[in-house]
Amino acid sequence: MMPRHKEDQQVKVAESAGTIDKPSRRSFLEKGSAVLAATASLPMIAAAQQTRDMSGDNHTGVNETQPGPINKTLDSAEPDSVFSPKTDAGGQPPFKYPFSYAHKRIEAGGWTRQVTVRDLPISKKMAGVEMRLIKGGIRELHWHVGAEWAFMTAGKARITAVDQNGRAFVDDVNPGDLWLFPGGIPHSIQGVGPDGCQFILVFDDGNFNEFETFLLTDWMHHTPKEVLAKNFNVPDSTFSNVPTRELFIFPRDLPRPLAEEQKEVYQGTGPVPNTFAFFASTMQPSKVNAGGSVKIIDRKNFPATSIAAAVVTLKPGGLRELHWHPNEDEWQYYVAGQGRMTVFSAGGHARTMDFHDGDVGYVEKSMPHYIENLGNTDLVFLEVFPTPDYQDISLAEWLAHTPSRLVDQHIGTGEDFLRKIPRKEAVITPE
Ligand code: MN
Ligand code: MN
Repeated sequence: MMPRHKEDQQVKVAESAGTIDKPSRRSFLEKGSAVLAATASLPMIAAAQQTRDMSGDNHTGVNETQPGPINKTLDSAEPDSVFSPKTDAGGQPPFKYPFSYAHKRIEAGGWTRQVTVRDLPISKKMAGVEMRLIKGGIRELHWHVGAEWAFMTAGKARITAVDQNGRAFVDDVNPGDLWLFPGGIPHSIQGVGPDGCQFILVFDDGNFNEFETFLLTDWMHHTPKEVLAKNFNVPDSTFSNVPTRELFIFPRDLPRPLAEEQKEVYQGTGPVPNTFAFFASTMQPSKVNAGGSVKIIDRKNFPATSIAAAVVTLKPGGLRELHWHPNEDEWQYYVAGQGRMTVFSAGGHARTMDFHDGDVGYVEKSMPHYIENLGNTDLVFLEVFPTPDYQDISLAEWLAHTPSRLVDQHIGTGEDFLRKIPRKEAVITPE
């Protein structure tokens, strides 16, 4: 590696001699001087450059070409990995996993696929499951150790549960609505819309496995018939139709009218004291401004929940402002649109990755980040936390509530700028 000042000189010489076609100066400085003799030509990655070149660099240096094999489709979708912002600096493990990479289990009643810590190693505390149920399709009665938080993305679902005091829950949810089933609480989901439904499930356990839950049929099939008969004081033959294989996701008749089913299951014990459904589709946003809107749903407005969440909508160009979460990891699901997120992980490390609908993102506790809408349509994503309480601290509120002289002595912006930062957190910008 030659001394930096010498490279600088050589770049100047090359530029003035016209031997480089609008080079990326930084790229030359970083990547050596072997480029000097060549003229750049980069048809292979032209598409990636056109979709993302925020810095103004053209990345035309021959040191940046990729003569070898290249996955053009992926490269064009991941411009911030192909040519990262100048501010990125390795060291941060990947924090994205597209559901498109997940194995899809298809059954007669619908399909499902999951992204867990086994797929995305950084996602230790949470896992996600996408599920589609056809009209009448039932996700079998079951439970699991961890809590289940869900967000409806299409259609309509009938959900049921029973709590530890035998109190019942039955309700219908629509796109934008959500639910929370506490760990160990048995439940079911059925597609009831004209085209069934689709939803995303989030679990407060990175090692969750949707294919290994406690299923009603699986349990009964693995219990001696005479024990079942004794348990209910009925003949063995009562159970002769119990399936010998789990049902998991299967198509059946639609449920009875909601009011009828509620009346039936409430008998003797009544409904659960805090409903497991939250109708976020009809909730007023917690905050709306020029940059977009956010709905925050945690135990303050959804008492049954042990999982806090924010539903964020960023207008084109909108920014989920620089912030971090002091209390827990953040699991993200991109519902619509496209954008990018940079995570700064201390020690000089920062990484930017691109996100599209159906991608999972993950940010560990206290790591600062932003999300920017770089598309022409709204960017909608979920922030989900394995804690009942939503918490964040933004860069702006930190600086606004720290003595301005002290801050100015760090970043040299002048105290005027600091005094003008709004006293109240923006969440999304522009305000
Ligand atoms: Mn479940
Ligand atoms: Mn966040």
